[in-house]
Amino acid sequence: MRVAKTERTTRMSRVIGIDLGTTNSCVAVVEGGKPVVITNAEGERTTPSVVAFTKDGERLVGGAAKRQLATNSGRTVSSIKRHMGSDYRVHIDGKDLTPQEISAMILTKIRRDAESYLGEPVTEAVITVPAYFDDSQRKATQDAGRIAGLNVLRIINEPTAAAVAYGLDNEAPQKILVYDLGGGTFDVSIIEIEDGTFTVLATGGDTRLGGDDFDQRIVEYAVAEFKKSDRIDLSRDPAAMGRLKEEAEKAKKELSSALSAQLNLPFIAVGKDGPHHLDLTISRPQFEMMTGDLLARTVAPVQNALRDAGISASQLGKVLLVGGSTRMPAVERQVKELLGCEPSHSLNPDECVAMGAAVQGGLLQGGGKLAGASGAAAQGLVLMDVTPLTLSIETLGGVATPLITRNSMIPTRKSQIFTTARPMQTSVEINVLQGERHFARDNKSLGKFKLNGIRASFSSKPQIEVTFDIDVNGVVKVSAKDLGTGREQNITITGSTNLSENEIQRAMADAAAYEAEDSRRKERLDLHNQAEVLAYKVDEALSKCKKELDKEEKNRIKADVANLRRCLRKDKPEKMNETEEANLRQAKSQLEASANHLMVLYASEQSENGSDGTI
Ligand code: AMP
Repeated sequence: MRVAKTERTTRMSRVIGIDLGTTNSCVAVVEGGKPVVITNAEGERTTPSVVAFTKDGERLVGGAAKRQLATNSGRTVSSIKRHMGSDYRVHIDGKDLTPQEISAMILTKIRRDAESYLGEPVTEAVITVPAYFDDSQRKATQDAGRIAGLNVLRIINEPTAAAVAYGLDNEAPQKILVYDLGGGTFDVSIIEIEDGTFTVLATGGDTRLGGDDFDQRIVEYAVAEFKKSDRIDLSRDPAAMGRLKEEAEKAKKELSSALSAQLNLPFIAVGKDGPHHLDLTISRPQFEMMTGDLLARTVAPVQNALRDAGISASQLGKVLLVGGSTRMPAVERQVKELLGCEPSHSLNPDECVAMGAAVQGGLLQGGGKLAGASGAAAQGLVLMDVTPLTLSIETLGGVATPLITRNSMIPTRKSQIFTTARPMQTSVEINVLQGERHFARDNKSLGKFKLNGIRASFSSKPQIEVTFDIDVNGVVKVSAKDLGTGREQNITITGSTNLSENEIQRAMADAAAYEAEDSRRKERLDLHNQAEVLAYKVDEALSKCKKELDKEEKNRIKADVANLRRCLRKDKPEKMNETEEANLRQAKSQLEASANHLMVLYASEQSENGSDGTI
């Protein structure tokens, strides 16, 4: 990451900063010059990165999807981030969904929640990714944003975003370590910050270690204890396991501030003798004993990262704790022991990445000063990303010849002249590679293309100019030009697993169609609810004010209530067809008109009775 001055004058919508996490996502925006976290529709500050497809075609995203994971696991998708940039597909109802499309469903919820919080459309975002994400993983993240209706202005590294949130870009030059233990992954990054430049020196971690594993240990303990005390195996009951997992996570979080926590699950099982209840106390030392080996797994990646960066722990200026799981007191203790310094955790560990992304978004939006924000923000600077890995082409003997070395600031453009290997050779194949290894076969091939029609001769060697062009989002274009003939060929690297423009357009159309259908579904549900409430209120008003109405008016109202109730669909009200919806709307308006007088009478009676109305 580098920082460079920027000027921007065009107005755009508010830019949100999104931490699209493996288990949880978080979104923030700059308000009053400071990054603030946006609460979602459920009032939570983070949203589980979980998507579920109910049997009747509804899509649940976030907490609602997470809660039904155990009972509907086959139709619930979690941790999709692990598959970004791969050809993994989710098979649901005869459709093959890409990781980009699933991520787009999470991003769509985030966008909509941000829109209702801000009260305006949101079209621009900065999204964070792990520092080790390669080109195709970054491109896949960017495409997910597009499918969700977001123009992704920047993809930035998570540890850099955290450092920006802490304002480290304005401090003396230093090397920092970011220890990020989330729900499903552990990442460690060592970053050098100098003159506003953020350079990733080393990354490491364990992609299969996170808070979920700590929950699982409590679950296993509870299952074993329940088997001993009640002779029932809860692990055979998915619904019970779902409840237990939720309760275990709650207890784990409690143990971060309390010395003991209670697992309390009434009616968790039914035996021959009737219902059984789970009631278990777990102490912090007990929890730390049963999870000590998990925490120990973070030691080697930290030591390896220090070794790769060529520094010792004593050379670290700061250690930042990032990720919800670093709230566990044992984490802080271990980090202190391992690195010999007090880690910083003044910001919420599960929010600081999104906050840093929001700071970057705020700068891209306005370019102006941000009061109280980080150093880069205060100076009106914009962070620039760097290429995470070296980009090369394959040359004679299968050698990877670098054109752009890792950690080069982007956007960038580099050209180099090559020549043909054999006499009279009229075509060359350009194999674009990504990675740090010396031989082509050990690196990842991002794509190949051929340049034909090279003017060949025995006397002079053709000159082929190869140019690499990387835009601000890390998207790579490679061209090869025969300087003799001016003939040119080029490709835009999308990676073999990335989506083509057509596929993105189709996914965008699908997402927009679903969004329209979803809001129609909500509209129908609202209509149904309002109609139900109206019928109930009119009934109540009739019973209270029957003496004040003549028989004819009373009968008319009763008939209209009955008609409205006939139109109310009993099951799945949001699934009404168009005729049913029109009939219900009509019946509701009719009753509103016929009961108007009654409702006025009822309201005045209510106020005489001292009531402020129904709640
Ligand atoms: P993140 O992906 O950064 O949001 O981290 C999510 C993980 O942090 C989940 O496993 C949570 O259970 C865990 N977590 C959140 N709050 C706490 C807490 N107070 N104590 C322990 N773990 C927590």
